[in-house]
Amino acid sequence: MEKKTNQFKAEMAEMLDLVVNSLYSKKEIFLRELISNASDAIDRAKYLGLTQKELVADNPEWRIDIRVDSKAGTMAVEDNGIGMDADDLEKSLGTIASSGTKAFRQALKEKGGDALPELIGQFGVGFYAAFMVADRVRVVTKKRGSDKAYVWESTMQDGYTVEEGEREGFGTTIMLHMRDDQKEWLERWRVEDLVKKYSDFIAYPIRFARVDPAKDEKEEDRKRREENEAKPINTMVALWKRPKKDVKPEEYAEFYRHLTRDWEDPLETIPFSGEGQVEFKALLFLPKKATMELFMPDRKRGLSLYVRNVFIGDDMEMLLPPWLRFVKGVVDSSDLPLNVSREMLQDDTTIQKIKQAVTSKILSVLEDMKKKDAAKYDSFHSTFGSVLKEGIYGDWTNADRLKKLVKYPTARGESGKKTFLEDYVKDMAPGQKDIYFICAEREEAARSAPQTEAARKHGCDVLLFCDPVDDFLAESFREFDGHSLVDVARGEVQFGTDEEKKAEKERGEKAGGELKDFMEAVKKELNGKVSDVRVSTRLDGSPCCLVAQSGAPSPSMVRMMRAMNEPVPEEKRILEINADHPLVRKVAAMDGEQRAKAVEMLYGAALVAEGSPVPDGARFTKALYELMMK
Ligand code: ADP
Repeated sequence: MEKKTNQFKAEMAEMLDLVVNSLYSKKEIFLRELISNASDAIDRAKYLGLTQKELVADNPEWRIDIRVDSKAGTMAVEDNGIGMDADDLEKSLGTIASSGTKAFRQALKEKGGDALPELIGQFGVGFYAAFMVADRVRVVTKKRGSDKAYVWESTMQDGYTVEEGEREGFGTTIMLHMRDDQKEWLERWRVEDLVKKYSDFIAYPIRFARVDPAKDEKEEDRKRREENEAKPINTMVALWKRPKKDVKPEEYAEFYRHLTRDWEDPLETIPFSGEGQVEFKALLFLPKKATMELFMPDRKRGLSLYVRNVFIGDDMEMLLPPWLRFVKGVVDSSDLPLNVSREMLQDDTTIQKIKQAVTSKILSVLEDMKKKDAAKYDSFHSTFGSVLKEGIYGDWTNADRLKKLVKYPTARGESGKKTFLEDYVKDMAPGQKDIYFICAEREEAARSAPQTEAARKHGCDVLLFCDPVDDFLAESFREFDGHSLVDVARGEVQFGTDEEKKAEKERGEKAGGELKDFMEAVKKELNGKVSDVRVSTRLDGSPCCLVAQSGAPSPSMVRMMRAMNEPVPEEKRILEINADHPLVRKVAAMDGEQRAKAVEMLYGAALVAEGSPVPDGARFTKALYELMMK
């Protein structure tokens, strides 16, 4: 193979520039990134070696070595993991997914330069952090299963070269030629500090060695140095296997950052072990915020599964239901066969049992948090509440527990405050049997929707379903604690005690009789826009509103279907009028063109009130202006 010089892809050059030339406070993370990559490379070699024995025929003692040459000003990070061939080098060190670049730039814009070191790891550009401390990086690598070694080299400015080379044994060496002002990292104590701080739990021994000891080194110094160099710097004990009381919160937090590439501490750390049917150890985390992975569907990772210390995989949905996809962490079990393929694991009964246990544990942690730390729970809920809600319609076995964990704003509540359903039930009006809700796109629109008026007049609060998932949820929520969930903007609803309902019905019938001709005329004026006109039981204060027939999609559902280019069933709604309202009585007394105009205005106002567009806005406003002039 000839030596090839390649330019970095355009967006990549821009990103490298950002990485290296922005202001950052923590250049030190370069070592964490290189060690993580080395550890990943060994994980992969070990995993592939389970089924392809020839890849590990050299029977390696897995190791990560840091070799420093202070005269030459270099640091090499060396592993005997999977290695890379020419193709891998091109794919891994020559490009990054352009979706990644875009998301990176966006995140940088939002978070500012200080977040850069953390973003680097998250976006799969960890390797390039090397350029924060080095002005030239040389990668010498030989892939297991291949007999060719390759050398990748770059100074960043002039792209990179790839050529064939020599390497003893399999694995990868990353050689950093340190920048003049970054030589401090070549000291043993600096490296030791960094490894202890960021990489202590890495499962393979990390050793430090000087390749250029002083010529006049005393015999005893040499001995001490060599002894030191033989000892790994890291403790290597898998954190999830250590008793909880022996692990410091910082250690958990650092492990969490290593695992997720998040830059903040986790909201909650959950170490636990499964006993009984299946034995396993787990270390789970609830993040504080949704991680950047949300922008990058191809990088979604779930829990990492280890079987007897071998990393098997971190496929998204293997150990977690989709509605817990924000949970991060590690599960380690010795009850699983090592040589099982990732595909087979999906259906494995042991995996299913672990999944159930993990799910149940997380639910109980959330239940506990809800009871003991309302502020923390609220912060969790505001970030991941809508993901949890998906479980209510997707997961029958856990729906009942989930219903107790979700919160809603209510018509009576202040904006920004949310209520659990059990608190709603505690506060129900005397005689109230059902739980009322209304679907709308925006909380404020829902809070003042005319359809909630009568409910509130009877002392009943109304849950405001304003999250996009709530519309779907409304269908499957059905009941809570024996109370049906009833949409106040759909079908027929009546409020109050049985007597009040009876009286209301009689009043409605009487008013319906009086206004019969008027309502028929309105229906005609509206010329097919509504399926019916009737006297309302849900209004108090507003002259009219639109309601859906029971079973019909809600207005926000219809808007969403339109946005998704789904065919929307032509569903006509019902115009309900408030028979007691003076305006209704006034319009009823009109006739001719005056009444036609007034009816059109009433209909348009009902649409505006619920946040729906008026079909002919210009015509509506013109009529409004005319009216105002009068
Ligand atoms: P990430 O590790 O998040 O994918 P990096 O920029 O750190 O992003 O690395 C890019 C890719 O380069 C890795 O995914 C891996 O395929 C490859 N790579 C990096 N370091 C090594 C190594 N020491 N051994 C084998 N492959 C490596």
